[in-house]
Amino acid sequence: MLSQEETSKLKIGLEIHVQLTNLKTKLFCPCPSDYRGKKPNENVCPICLGLPGTLPQVNSKAIESAIAVCLAFKAKVQPYVAFSRKNYFYPDMNKNYQITQYDKAGGATIGIGGHVTISMDGERREIPFRRIQLEEDPGRLVHVEKGSVRKTYIDYNRAGIALVEVVTEPVMHQPKEARLVLEKIQTTLEHLGVLDPSFEGSMRCDANVSYAGGARIEIKNINSFREVEQALRFEELRLAYLPKLESNVTKRWGEKEGVTATSREKETEEDYRYFPEPDIPPILVDEKLVERIRRHLPELPDERLERFIRAYKLPEKLASILVMEKPVADFFEEALQFSNDPKEVAYWLTNEVVRRWRECDVDCRKSKFKPRNLAKLVNMVKEGALTPRMAKSVLWDVVLTGEDVEEYIERKGISIIRDPNMFKQVILKVLEEKPNLRENASKNERIIDFICGEVQKKLDGRADPIILRNEVKKLVEEED
Ligand code: ZN
Ligand code: MN
Repeated sequence: MLSQEETSKLKIGLEIHVQLTNLKTKLFCPCPSDYRGKKPNENVCPICLGLPGTLPQVNSKAIESAIAVCLAFKAKVQPYVAFSRKNYFYPDMNKNYQITQYDKAGGATIGIGGHVTISMDGERREIPFRRIQLEEDPGRLVHVEKGSVRKTYIDYNRAGIALVEVVTEPVMHQPKEARLVLEKIQTTLEHLGVLDPSFEGSMRCDANVSYAGGARIEIKNINSFREVEQALRFEELRLAYLPKLESNVTKRWGEKEGVTATSREKETEEDYRYFPEPDIPPILVDEKLVERIRRHLPELPDERLERFIRAYKLPEKLASILVMEKPVADFFEEALQFSNDPKEVAYWLTNEVVRRWRECDVDCRKSKFKPRNLAKLVNMVKEGALTPRMAKSVLWDVVLTGEDVEEYIERKGISIIRDPNMFKQVILKVLEEKPNLRENASKNERIIDFICGEVQKKLDGRADPIILRNEVKKLVEEED
C-alpha cells in the first residue's frame, strides 16, 4: 500500500470501449451484430471486410444510442459530428485504418465532457470525462495451439460492430476508484438499455497510469473490472518503487502471471495520422432529436438510488449496492411485490443471495432463483417460522436450484424447535462444558448471548431465538 502522499501523485485514466449490444446491425453495414457463437467470418460483407470500392453507411440507430449515452453522463452532445480515420496496421484491422471519431484534425466526437459519480469510503466523487466517441470494433484474432504448432486465425464477425468509447480525464488516484467508475458506467449503460454486460467482451477497458508526472503507461488486455484494479495495483507499486521509465510504454496485463509486461513503446497520437473520413459526410445533429431522446431517457442509477433511499427508507450504502447492478435492483423491486419489508429484502439479497451467486459464478440475469422465493423466505423469518440461520442454509441450496422455498422446507423436514425442555437439556450441557459461564451470567447480557449462540450451534441454528433466550435467562437466574 502506498502512503496518502504517494497515492496523490498517482494519476489514472480509463478508456472504456462498450459495444452497443441493443443494435441489430453493425455500424456501417447491414450485417447482423450478433456475432457470438457464429461460425467464423459468417457475419461479414464487402463493407465490413473493407473491400475496395465499398462505401460505409452510418447506422442511424447507433447515432441515437450514442446520443443517449452522452445524455446519461451529462456530456455535451455536439451539433456537428465527423468521423476520422485512425491509421495503423494490425491483422484484425483489415482496412489498415479504423473509422472512429477524433476531436482534432477536422474531426468532432459525438460527446464532450460529462462525468460519472461514484461513492468511495463514504464520500461522493465526480470523475469527469474528456470525450465520448463512436467507432467500429476491429475483428478478432483467434489463437489455436495444437502440440507445438501455434496458429492464429482471423474472424471478422466482430469487425464493424458499433462501439462507444468513453475517455475519462486522468484524475483517479486509486485502483479501487477505477473499478468503481467502471461498475458505475456499466450499470448506467445497462439501465439505459444499450448494453447487456452478460455478453462476453461487451465492455473492455484500457487503463493508463503515471506517477509524479513521469512516463505514461498504458495497460491493455484487461478482461474484468477486478483485473483492472489488480493491474493498476501492480503498476502503482512498480511506479513508486522502481527506477523511472524513460518513455511512455504500452503494456499487456497477464491475468495468470499477475504482472504487466511491456509489449511496445506507446505510439503517440501523431503516429496514427488521423484525418477526416472522406467516405462519410459530417453529420448535423438535430436538436429536436436530442430533446426527444432526452425526454425518453429511462430512470438511471443515480435517480434510482435516490428513489430507493426515499421510497424504501434504505440506508445509502445498501441502496447503492442494489443499483450497482441493474438485475439486482430489478430483483429487489420485484421481490417487494411479495413482501412489505424493503430493508430486510435488501439485506438478504445483497448479503446472502448475491454472495452465493458470486461464489458459484452465477449470472443473476440467468438465475433460476426468483424474487418471489426470496420474499417468501424473508417473510418466514419475520413470522418466526425460520431462524435466520435456518434461512441462510435454505438459501444456500435454493439460490442455485430455484426450488420453491416452502417445498424445499417440507421436503427436507426442516422445522424450528420451540420445546423449552429440549432447550433446558442443551443449556445445561453447555454450562457443564464451560462452567465459568455460570458466574454472574444473569446480569451479563453478553454471556447470555454467548450461551444462546452455543445452544444454536448444537441445534443447527434451529432454536426459536425468543423462547431460547427466555429459557437461558430463567436457568441462569435459578443458578444464581
Ligand atoms: Zn458487413
Ligand atoms: Mn478506441
